[in-house]
Amino acid sequence: MTVLKPNAKFARFIRKKRSETKRALKKGDLTLNKLLNDNDLYKEIISNMKVFELLKSLPKTGRVRADKILKKLKINYCKKMGGLGKNQKKNFLNYFNIEIEKKGKLFIISGPSGAGKSSLISDALNGTSGFVRSVSVTTRPKRKNEKDGEKYRFISNKQFENLKKNEKLLECAAYCGYSYGTPKDFVQKQLEAGANVILEIEVQGAMQVKNIIEDAYMIFITVPSIINLKERLGKRNTEECIEIKKRMKTSEEELKYQKYYDCIIINNNYNEALLNLKNLLNSQKE
Ligand code: 5GP
Repeated sequence: MTVLKPNAKFARFIRKKRSETKRALKKGDLTLNKLLNDNDLYKEIISNMKVFELLKSLPKTGRVRADKILKKLKINYCKKMGGLGKNQKKNFLNYFNIEIEKKGKLFIISGPSGAGKSSLISDALNGTSGFVRSVSVTTRPKRKNEKDGEKYRFISNKQFENLKKNEKLLECAAYCGYSYGTPKDFVQKQLEAGANVILEIEVQGAMQVKNIIEDAYMIFITVPSIINLKERLGKRNTEECIEIKKRMKTSEEELKYQKYYDCIIINNNYNEALLNLKNLLNSQKE
């Protein structure tokens, strides 16, 4: 996973990498199979390259052969690799006998405290295959109904700082006076193994992750009005009054981030919200 910023230096870097990649292909040091299976290389370096240009870089392939392949696959001369339609891509891979290793998709689910995220996620995943939930680390004290290692690993401030210092967290944030973070290794391994990973995290962490994993799908779960949140937090009986006040204040801030999300689910009617979430996860999963 690479964090790359679109500036002139970055553009030069990509051009250089693209030339190196083409040379390696021509010499046979790099195969098309390996290239297309390397997500970082593919996304950053190849997706903006014309299919024709890529074909010309293959061993024993010049303009004439590249042109013939394009015609056979019904791909326009100007088409870029990243712009291939689903069928075109399938035909391209079949032509070269390439199988793409399936990688999982990352889902980020956020929303104000009390909007019902946790229950909706648990119920949506019940009977749905191919998903795993990440277990966060937090310095927040364990609640009565919580078990260590289920939704959270409850750790000390010192342990949290160590994880952060050793770059073991994909993201981290402070929320109402406590620290929360997503262990990096688990997420990376699961995605590589083809699982769809769900992160239930607050908005600051969500923005950090989106910056690193651009194709993460972001879902915001909320309620029709802020008044509903107060009622729900009161009813669930897990927080003290002062804690509820803090959470309400944070919720108002969190609502401002809705615009950055791919989809918003309003939990007005639980069953409807659940159906929406289930459908969304199933339609977007890899
Ligand atoms: P709670 O204390 O109610 O379990 O969680 C408080 C907030 O922290 C919720 O919005 C929850 O989604 C978020 N959260 C839980 N785990 C993480 C995490 O690993 N990283 C971030 N940034 N937020 C998290």
